[in-house]
Amino acid sequence: MVKYLGPKEEVPYQPKAILAIIDEVPLLSPAHLIFWEWIAEYYFCSIGEVMHAALPAGLKLMSETKVMLKESFQGEFENLTELEYLIAEALTIQHQLSLQDIRDILQRKTIYPIINSLISKGILFVEEELKKKYKPKKLDFIYLKPPFDQDLNLAFELTEKSEKQTDALLALHQLISQKGKASKADWYRAGNIDTGIKNALIKKEIIEVLPETVSRIQTKEATLKELPVLNVEQENALVSIKNGFGKGKPVLLNGVTGSGKTRLYIELANETLREGKQVLFLLPEIALTTHLINRLSKVFGKKIIVFHSRLNNSERVEVWNAAAQGQPILLGARSSLLLPFNNLGLIIVDEEHDRSYKQDDPAPRYNARDAAIMLAVKMKANIILGSATPSFESLYNVELGKYGLAVLKQRVNNQPLPKINLVDLKEARKKQLIHEEFSSHLLERIQENLNQGRQIILFQNRRGFSPFLKCRICGWHAICVHCDVSQTYHKYFNKLVCHYCNYQIVPPTHCPDCGSDALNLYGFGTEKIEEVLRQVFTTAKIARMDFDTVRTQKGYQTIIEDFEAKRIDILVGTQMVTKGLDFDSVGLVAVLNADMIINFPDFRAHERAYQLMTQVAGRAGRKNDQGEVIIQTVRPDHAVIRDVLLQNFRSFYQREIKEREQYLYPPFYRLILIIVKHKKPKVCHFAAEQIANALKAHFRNRVKGPTEPVISKIRNQYIRHVMIKLEKDARLMASIKYYIKINIDRIRKEEGMSTVRFNVNVDPY
Ligand SMILES: [Zn+2]
Ligand SMILES: [Zn+2]
Repeated sequence: MVKYLGPKEEVPYQPKAILAIIDEVPLLSPAHLIFWEWIAEYYFCSIGEVMHAALPAGLKLMSETKVMLKESFQGEFENLTELEYLIAEALTIQHQLSLQDIRDILQRKTIYPIINSLISKGILFVEEELKKKYKPKKLDFIYLKPPFDQDLNLAFELTEKSEKQTDALLALHQLISQKGKASKADWYRAGNIDTGIKNALIKKEIIEVLPETVSRIQTKEATLKELPVLNVEQENALVSIKNGFGKGKPVLLNGVTGSGKTRLYIELANETLREGKQVLFLLPEIALTTHLINRLSKVFGKKIIVFHSRLNNSERVEVWNAAAQGQPILLGARSSLLLPFNNLGLIIVDEEHDRSYKQDDPAPRYNARDAAIMLAVKMKANIILGSATPSFESLYNVELGKYGLAVLKQRVNNQPLPKINLVDLKEARKKQLIHEEFSSHLLERIQENLNQGRQIILFQNRRGFSPFLKCRICGWHAICVHCDVSQTYHKYFNKLVCHYCNYQIVPPTHCPDCGSDALNLYGFGTEKIEEVLRQVFTTAKIARMDFDTVRTQKGYQTIIEDFEAKRIDILVGTQMVTKGLDFDSVGLVAVLNADMIINFPDFRAHERAYQLMTQVAGRAGRKNDQGEVIIQTVRPDHAVIRDVLLQNFRSFYQREIKEREQYLYPPFYRLILIIVKHKKPKVCHFAAEQIANALKAHFRNRVKGPTEPVISKIRNQYIRHVMIKLEKDARLMASIKYYIKINIDRIRKEEGMSTVRFNVNVDPY
């Protein structure tokens, strides 16, 4: 962490002189810089990596930037300094230079002031700058000059002879009275006007054209004037939330699906806006939450802007500037946390348990929910974490009294929670009451719901057709040549696809090992589920929502709209269907294979399985009547399944948290995962052993490994894990980070080790 030293303190290094200031106005506030430093220090990365993640491309000069001479430059070297001369001369020989080339030529690191000076002297240009650098968007606006703006009839006297000019003025007047002002483009469209007419009116000094900077950011008008009145439970929750805020605590809002968490967010946001402060609304994934965004837009209109991945560079710069200039509400996924708010009053973290808040690659490997807590502290803002199925960390913090708690137990209008039924897959198979992955009971219930005109959602946590192509004779199965994972068969493309590196091959007709043609597909992906459904329910309208069908935002949007308009009867999907869909007439939701979710090799598998199944179940029966949920499993007695069935999150939490404590897992212990990668397995393992042994010497059995992860090779890189389990002790944490750093530096200096990659992931879950 950089320390801000007072005037009398010793500086431990020789500071360098400031040669030039690149930006006239600072890009971010000192408070935000301190926040960046916290991220870098906590998540074990450089502040440069944080900056890189935060700054829109339009605001940074990248190392790939190419510098070139302007064509107009004819060798006028006279007015250049010695350093400027060196660059200009080099460019007369070489067509272009990278920033690194320039550093080498000048034998110095600080080169931007010199480049900027050469740019301002009109000698060179930066290629990337031309392509990417932000320019404000300008539009021409048409104004009536005085006195015509007061009395249009005076103008008509001057245009008497031209009907076209008179019509153009009428069109202009109408536009101005409708919209307040008229852009040239709007005016041209409105009245069949062309440049000739415009110029004639300018010449008569009736109108003038003024260019103005306009925003690229699209916002909507607020259309919802009145909000539903808070019910008693919501009122009480609001009191609890404010209580927590009053004590300076983050507050966990634990509300079942459909209980009106959003209504409370709106209430809190409105209060924050009234105090003249900004609101940051964090969502796990923007693309999958259009419903919520539309709802908020209707309430807040132009006060809200959405920061999403489809914005181009210029739009990103404008969002950045808007945040710095006090835009009331910014809504976005995890990276919006890094925007330069100038007066943040409230942070809302919706679906706080969601894994998408964690960034794994590249660094900074931060968890936006946890970092948001720190941002709230640094900016003295309130923060609320909302979820129907909170993370264990947050619940534990409530237990410790670090977080406040507000609870919503009832769905709005007292709709009952859906009824959950289990199907024992083993039993069904024994009695032959099964067709492919569907139990007879599930097929009957689907038919019944179709008959009643209700919609159905089926959840399968695996895309593609079949996850395994296997030889019955010798046991060979299709594995990606670059990764240590089986390739999934996709029937639509007739390809075997690796879901880690996207490597694709046409499936072999004969076993590559023994030559037999006894190749079988095993397992069910969403594509196969869809196919089976089409065979059974021949007249039903069936659609699939997964990564393959939703490659574009439009694809996603189309499926949602079709489902809403009831052009789809049955929707099959991966976990996309668990998020933010707010449908009115879903009668049945089914989890086709719960075991696949529960048996995931991770200490949070149970927590996630519970969350996932509860979220899926929450899609059923939202408006008029009680919905129905069917969970198929081979282990109906599994404790997690039992808890989901009883919809008792508390008892589930109480049991699981004991195991976490017993096995030294979060929230009781901290985890740091060191991921070692190299293209040679021996080098990879050796490097992992070296770091593990070095750390074990100081931290003993807190260090585990190296181990070979379940997937031990991805994209031709072999992988080893070294896991550290640490007591919650800030000094211990700082000390182990220090040892990790010096040992990585040491190992990488050894012969043949410079290409080993060490990714350090703090809180890697
Ligand atoms: Zn074979
Ligand atoms: Zn692969």
